[in-house]
Amino acid sequence: MDINQELRENIKKLLKDKKVDIVIGYGRGTLPLTSTPIFVNDEKDADELIFDLTCQNNLATYLTKDKRKLPKNHQKLGIIAKGCDGRSIVLYIAEKQIKREDVFIIGVPCQGVIDKRKLKNKLGDKEILKYKVDNEEVIVQGKDFTQTLQKQDILADSCLCCKYPNPPDYDIFIGKPAKEISKTDEFEIVDEFEKMLSDERWKYMKNEFSKCIRCYACRNVCPSCYCNECFVDQNNPQWFGKSPDFSDTMIFHLIRVLHIAGRCVDCGACVSACPLGINLRILNKKVEKEVRERFNDIAGLSIENKPAMSIFDENDKQEFIL
Ligand code: SF4
Ligand code: SF4
Ligand code: SF4
Repeated sequence: MDINQELRENIKKLLKDKKVDIVIGYGRGTLPLTSTPIFVNDEKDADELIFDLTCQNNLATYLTKDKRKLPKNHQKLGIIAKGCDGRSIVLYIAEKQIKREDVFIIGVPCQGVIDKRKLKNKLGDKEILKYKVDNEEVIVQGKDFTQTLQKQDILADSCLCCKYPNPPDYDIFIGKPAKEISKTDEFEIVDEFEKMLSDERWKYMKNEFSKCIRCYACRNVCPSCYCNECFVDQNNPQWFGKSPDFSDTMIFHLIRVLHIAGRCVDCGACVSACPLGINLRILNKKVEKEVRERFNDIAGLSIENKPAMSIFDENDKQEFIL
């Protein structure tokens, strides 16, 4: 059975049997090759649900900071979780933000999601009216054209090295588990960066991050950013300036990346949301690599594992303390 059909039938049954009161999932976006998060609490609306390579958003974010958008008297939340959303849910449980029994995880196998910038680079201003996915190819059609694209050329960078396309924990699983994608080495981007001289690295960072307009879209979509009041919004004390001046901007990015140290699941949501296409992944992956090397920790794989930054071991490397 087609995965969308299986997904819809399962969710209709879950709603009918009152195993869930509402399901957070994906629906078709208004433009071809896009999707949008939707909330389904009625069996008849379950037919709007989809899961495919347009489903970029990390839906776990709705379990914390955006829960105000959910009905107040909900009892049990169902959520569709691909690999990275599932890891964020596990992280929330490990961080005691939600209880395992309060969420019903509907696991789905992820084949990767499309990077809209890579797609635009391939197609320019051509308008897509229809598309079809055929194994490793995506065939797009517009008014006067048909073009076949290799999936590998338009997948998000996070997906090209994804080792966890299936959620680590779930209540039901739709379809068959996906194989890891691993087309590229996950820390290649950091290894290349580390080979540069320090002034070249600084020049790169300055060039990249001075484009930032401080819209905070990267923070808003990030499942690991869920403080009720973010440090950037505080006025008393005000930690740093609000302007898009480069030094203020860099403080924002450096503090944010330290806050997600050991908590980033490399879902790529921040990269996708950034209107300026800033290479946020370079900072995220650098910190992820440090955490991996120092603490042998990978975010969101186990409810039992306490996140690396929440524990102290006297054997932790402390060479930076003089
Ligand atoms: S990082 Fe993995 S689980 Fe997440 S969207 Fe990409 S392939 Fe899917
Ligand atoms: S920092 Fe970016 S890649 Fe990491 S969890 Fe947040 S949105 Fe996902
Ligand atoms: S989404 Fe991009 S432009 Fe907006 S604050 Fe983040 S890095 Fe800056």
